[in-house]
Parts: sequence; structure tokens; C-alpha cells
Amino acid sequence: MKIYNTLSGRQEVFIPLNKNKVGMYVCGMTVQDSPHIGHMRAYIISDIIKRWLEYKGFKVKHIQNFTDIDDKIIAKAKEENCDFREIAERHINEYMDASDRLGIKRADLYPRATEHIQEIIEVIEKLFKNKIAYKTESGVYFEVGKFEPYGKLSKKNIKDLRAGSRISPDEKKKSAFDFALWKSRKQGEPYWHSPWGKGRPGWHIECSAMSTHYLGDTFDIHTGGEDLIFPHHENEIAQSEAATNKPFVKYWLHNGLLRLTGEKMSKSTHHFISTKKLLPKYKADGVRLYLLSTHYRHPIEFEENRLKEAEESLSRIEEAIVSLKRDLPKEEKLKPNSKILSFVDAFEKAMDEDFNTPKAIGIIYSFIKFINTENLNGIKTQAYSMLLKLCNVLGIYEKEEEVKFDKKLVDVIIDIRKTLRNKGEFGLGDEIRKRLSELNIYLSDQPDGTTIWRVR
Ligand SMILES: [Zn+2]
Repeated sequence: MKIYNTLSGRQEVFIPLNKNKVGMYVCGMTVQDSPHIGHMRAYIISDIIKRWLEYKGFKVKHIQNFTDIDDKIIAKAKEENCDFREIAERHINEYMDASDRLGIKRADLYPRATEHIQEIIEVIEKLFKNKIAYKTESGVYFEVGKFEPYGKLSKKNIKDLRAGSRISPDEKKKSAFDFALWKSRKQGEPYWHSPWGKGRPGWHIECSAMSTHYLGDTFDIHTGGEDLIFPHHENEIAQSEAATNKPFVKYWLHNGLLRLTGEKMSKSTHHFISTKKLLPKYKADGVRLYLLSTHYRHPIEFEENRLKEAEESLSRIEEAIVSLKRDLPKEEKLKPNSKILSFVDAFEKAMDEDFNTPKAIGIIYSFIKFINTENLNGIKTQAYSMLLKLCNVLGIYEKEEEVKFDKKLVDVIIDIRKTLRNKGEFGLGDEIRKRLSELNIYLSDQPDGTTIWRVR
């Protein structure tokens, strides 16, 4: 299996650090606003990577953070005159809702920055010990000039950076490209205590602290959108490696961005398509098929027409599965059929080639053509289960299990969850939502305080 590693700039054979276990860290959202479809592309891609690794027999430990404190969250809380936690909580809920609806497998953990202040402080302390951090009145900074391999991920060099950079007047630091590890408290802003006074963590240090806390000093895979390569991931490498003196991540995977009329989808410029708008209109599987029809490293220009087309082609897959399922024979010998195996083989080869989903989707359609035109006597069950299996790798047409439940019982559970949330027990509320989602029951918290639910 080969994957393109941004660090080396080429495809490499994938060899995990620990036999069949893979540690994977996914840069999660800064929860200042609702997720848009550009964000979700990155999470669908990390989902595909995880599914493929699991298909290959690896046990994946998947950690995805939430940045629940930052300038924009604070600004929004001021605007709405509420606590910053309320802003974060609302958008974490919206993210989880979109993620579940899009069939993205849940991470093992979703750590939040504000719940890992201690771990963050410990990394900064190591950086002080290794004499690569310094304190000024505006905060604690990482001294980039002292980290010799700086730029190895983004292929930037410090001299070029130096030319174009200026220190903003409110930041007291030695050099323009030194970045904040800890920001000193400003009037009216939330703060935590640290050995360097009251303040809050910088963005980059959160990911270094949380990823190594859960996955160890060195782990296998780190993913994110290509807009995170610089400075975010470059800084994560600098902090982590300067603190531990060990390599941080073995494989860096970056997805291309989803553009809208030629520009990056972005919250700050209001140039985006929200999932709230898109998902009621289109099937989640159609959105997945649309996004996966382009290789993950390439940019996509968002076009609603192409999304509609994807939904139409999705119906060809659904029809094939349904018609096979309708008249599956009671018993069928499972002697592997070479023609079916050749489709599976081609699919696996495509996925092994740096997750080539467009090619893999093409093979699914050839397989469907075979199903629709060939005599399937004696191999129907095999064709059915293989088609399902391949679709499931793409997170499409996941086997619908019969869900048996009492509607009134679900209402009771939702009622109790509401009481818990009103008491501020958001963790328990999340747990209930997670447990229900395992039964294919999905909750969605509405702005008016009610919760609606549905079966996937
Ligand atoms: Zn990150």
C-alpha cells in the first residue's frame, strides 16, 4: 500500500510503526461557526483513510480534536453576549450532526483544547527546558530560528519568510515568524493559570499536546487540509520535535481544498456552502460519491450540477444492490468466482495507490455492469456481498440493519438528556447521543432547544 507523504514529497510504501496498529490524528474544527462542506471534505477523506486501513486489517486509533478556544470564538461570544463555551458547544453539536449524517465513522476520542491545558503547559515546559521558548509581556513564543529543520514540511525556508514578515505592534517577540505558545491574558477574555501567568494556549500547541498525549511522541498518520501545511503543521512539527527530540509524525497526508467560484471556501469571507443547507437537499451518500470522484489530493470546484449527477449515479448502485437482494437464493455454494475476484482485486489495487477513489468508483461501476449483463446463476450471493463490501469501503450504502425500537422509549431518553444538558452535563448528553448513534438513531439539537431524531 502506497501513500503520498507531504513530508518526503513522494509516494511511500506504508509501514506502520507498530505492526498492525495505526495511530492517526486528524486536525479538527475550530468551533466558531457551523461546518461547511469544505470542512467536511477533509473529514470524509480521513474517514476513507481509516476505512481502508481497517479493511487491510489494521487497528486504527483515531483522535480528532476540537479547538474550542480562539480569537474568533471569543469575538463571537462577545457579539452574542454569552459564554465562549456556549458558542463552542453549539458548533461541536452541529459538527457531530453533520459528521454522523455524512456517515463519517466516529473517532475514538474528540479531545478539546480547554480540557488539555495541563498537557499543553507540560509541552511548553519542555520547550523552556530545551531553551527554544521565551517569555515576553504578550506571551510565550517558540524561537523558530533555533529549530534547524524548520520548513521541512512546507519546503519554505526561513530566509524567504524573514523578508516578507513584520511583527505586529501588540506582539512583543524576537522575530516575526516566532509563534505564540501561550498568549497572555487580555482584559475580558477567558484565561487559565500557567507558570507564565494567566492566559490561554496558542492554536498550534494544542494539536502537539493532544496528539502526543493520546498517540505517543511519534505516531503514524496526521491528516488535514492542505491549507494547514503552513504554518499550522510546520509549527506542530517544530514544537513536538523540539520538546521530545524524537520524530513527530511518519506520514503527513493533506487533502486538496474545495473551492467555490475559484476561491477557497472560508468562514471569514462568508464564501461557503453550509452543510445545514446542503444536507437536507441531497443524500449523504450522493455527497460522498461526488467528493470521492476526485482524488483527495486535488482541488475540487464545487458545482451543484455535479452533485446532482453524483446522486443520479448513486441510484445505479442502489438499484443493483436492491435487485440482487430481492432474489438472493436460499443457498448458494460459495466457490469464489474469478471474475468477481478480479473486480475486488482491481478495487484493492486502486485504493492501495494512495487512496485512488475515482478509480475505485469506476471499478464499482464496471462491476455493476457485469452484474446487470451477465448470468449470475450460482454467484448471486457472492456478487451481492462483494458489491456491498466495496461500497462500504467508500462509506456508501452501509448495510442497513433492521432497527427495532420503541419510539416512545427514544422520546423518554431524549427528555432525560435534555434535563442533563440543562444542568450543564454536556458530557453525558454527548455520551447518550453517541450510544444512540451506535443503534443508528441520530439526534440533532435544534436552535430552539428541541431535539429531533431520525434513523439513518
Ligand atoms: Zn491541528
